[in-house]
Amino acid sequence: MSQFINQVAIITGGTRGIGRSLSEAFLQKGASVIAIYHNNQNAAEEFLEHNSLYRDKITLKRMDVTNASDVKSFFEELESKNISAQILVNNSGIRQDNIMASMTENEWDSVINTNLKSTYLMGKEAVLHFLKNRYGRIINISSVGGKLCLSGQTNYAASKAGQIALTKSLAKEVAKKGITVNAICPGFIETDMTKTLSPELKKEFTKDIPMKRFGKPEEVAAAVMFLASAEAAYITGATLDISGGL
Ligand code: NDP
Repeated sequence: MSQFINQVAIITGGTRGIGRSLSEAFLQKGASVIAIYHNNQNAAEEFLEHNSLYRDKITLKRMDVTNASDVKSFFEELESKNISAQILVNNSGIRQDNIMASMTENEWDSVINTNLKSTYLMGKEAVLHFLKNRYGRIINISSVGGKLCLSGQTNYAASKAGQIALTKSLAKEVAKKGITVNAICPGFIETDMTKTLSPELKKEFTKDIPMKRFGKPEEVAAAVMFLASAEAAYITGATLDISGGL
């Protein structure tokens, strides 16, 4: 219940989908949560209302994780308020599928920037922030899409494979500083991101999943909780699939 008491977890995309489950799991285990979102104000307010029991432990932050100055100001604000965070989950992400022959530069850039550049921007500032206490947990939400590399997802697959590579490389850089960096690769999870799949496509994907079902956001959160815990101190540079066996 109080596993994360006196800890602050920063969750990007923390008010919807997997991120919302992460925020709620951290709150339930005693952490304060800074839930970052981008445009969906209604979802952010609904998240806050639903979790009113934890009102004084939630900070909502509207910002763009692809924007270097937004990210820098966010961490400067933490410093100026003397807030010390211990956990960063880089969870925000988008997909804009298209075959590469038709993919626009904008579709390429927005997916790479939202999924990968943000992991660099947030990760870099978080490392500098965590170094002061020589303790930190960074968990990057990648995807099995970065390993399976499905057709129509060159931008998404490249961004998610890039997150895995960044995770391993950064883990080595900070291993001696008390900071661990790990990646989670969810398979198909029931959120807004997969709601747009046609029923036919959903059926087809389900056939390939050994457990014959999509996963739930809470099933991703359970693994993140472990990697974020003090007990996971010797796990770094690891990638964990949560995919029903895909
Ligand atoms: P959702 O579409 O449900 O939510 C995405 C979240 O990211 C939203 O909170 C959104 O904010 C936020 N976000 C998007 N762009 C930005 C930005 N530029 N700045 C700040 N926040 C931003 O996604 P999921 O919960 O499904 O996915 C979460 C992560 O898990 C993603 O990285 C995704 O790639 C990964 N994943 C998901 C899978 C799935 O099947 N659902 C499978 C494998 C991986 P706002 O609410 O304001 O729009």
